[in-house]
Amino acid sequence: ESDKLNARTQGSKRMFAEAKEHLSGGVASSYQLRDPWPIYIERGSGPKIWDVDGNEMWDFHNGFGAMVQGHAHPAIGRAIAERYPKGTHFGCATEDDIIVADELSSRWGLPKWRFTNSGSESTMDAIRIARAYTGRDTVLKIFGSYHGHHDTVMVSIGVEYDQIGDHYHLASLPYGGGIPQATVDMTYAVPFNDADAMERRIIELEAEGHKPACVIMEAAMMNLGVVLPEPGYLEAVRDITKRHGIVLIFDEVKTGLCIAAGGATEKFGVKPDLVTLAKALGGGLPAGAIGGTEEVMRVVEDHTVYQVGTYSGNPLSMAAARASLQEVLTPEAYAHLAHLNDRIVNGCQAVIDKYDLPGYAVGIGSKGCVTFSDQKVVDYETYKASQRGDLAELAWLYNLNRGIFMTPGREEEWTLSVTHTDEAIDAYVAAFEALARDLTK
Ligand code: PMP
Repeated sequence: ESDKLNARTQGSKRMFAEAKEHLSGGVASSYQLRDPWPIYIERGSGPKIWDVDGNEMWDFHNGFGAMVQGHAHPAIGRAIAERYPKGTHFGCATEDDIIVADELSSRWGLPKWRFTNSGSESTMDAIRIARAYTGRDTVLKIFGSYHGHHDTVMVSIGVEYDQIGDHYHLASLPYGGGIPQATVDMTYAVPFNDADAMERRIIELEAEGHKPACVIMEAAMMNLGVVLPEPGYLEAVRDITKRHGIVLIFDEVKTGLCIAAGGATEKFGVKPDLVTLAKALGGGLPAGAIGGTEEVMRVVEDHTVYQVGTYSGNPLSMAAARASLQEVLTPEAYAHLAHLNDRIVNGCQAVIDKYDLPGYAVGIGSKGCVTFSDQKVVDYETYKASQRGDLAELAWLYNLNRGIFMTPGREEEWTLSVTHTDEAIDAYVAAFEALARDLTK
């Protein structure tokens, strides 16, 4: 299958050779890399994408989950086209800022918002807000979770760890070079889906004089495939953080606008103190947001925290976000996504059952995956212990060779767009069945 894929992507191979001259590693972001070369994209329309070799593919990658609206959506195109002749950037407030903040406020039930340009900026600023509000430095995150590329959260992602007593002592490993040890030392991690472990760690940290400013987490983990919260877990986390006076941040960069109109906050009915958004918010243009309670966001309003950015609330991004919220991500759109996701999850699960594969299909909102594993994945530890990376790799190759475009990271989930159809879903399930058939031949 890899030979087949390489033969289909010779144009990308040539482009990669050229790209390496002046682009470090041949790509704009390390996330775009894959061996032996990345796939260079030419265009997208609705649920489809075309690479430079002319391969037409159903897009289940969807720009790392940003394109839940589908590619080149006419409503977003209209908003951009109307905005462009009036100027695209002033570094000043525009009316769309107000409209988008109002809309997000009603979807999340959080009254105060600010804008950024990316998920990393949103989590960086949210953590700063939490630190200023509490007057503390320590950050508690979930083991294995990704929250963007700034130093504080580039810790305890995708590394092996040992448990000594109750201490996850490798939790303080930085993810890559260039991250100061002093910053790493302020970030701690606990396993997902274990509220008792979280509270025990908080009590230990308090005793050591490192009371956390915040817990930053995804309400459903989206970088080990999809890992859903066990019943009662989020409620327990909400209760623990409240009792210990710790700001709870739901990082909804992936879940926000994708798993429900009001993201994980609405879906699971647990309200954090701060929420971070990006990806789907801009409908293909860079936009991020931080939402919060009156009380916590007061540190922004009273200028305790300098929350800024030249391009924050960029008019083009805000016009796209406004159109996306008002015209595209409607209640009907979420009903359509739910229908499609049921179909793909049930279709994949039927294949797993028929061919007796190790694993299960899981989905929520517009997102899901097949988790190849001998046991249920509930956190990073069970993921590492049981994940069948070989099968995930094969599934990825089978998909690409059958016109199903997926992210280069095999642990990423699919994202459906509102423009996907039953036909797209059936193509995905058919590619999966081709793999299952060959595996059990
Ligand atoms: N938080 C989460 C949960 C994410 O998945 C990501 C990106 N995958 C980020 C933050 C960072 O977002 P960005 O890449 O826009 O900086």
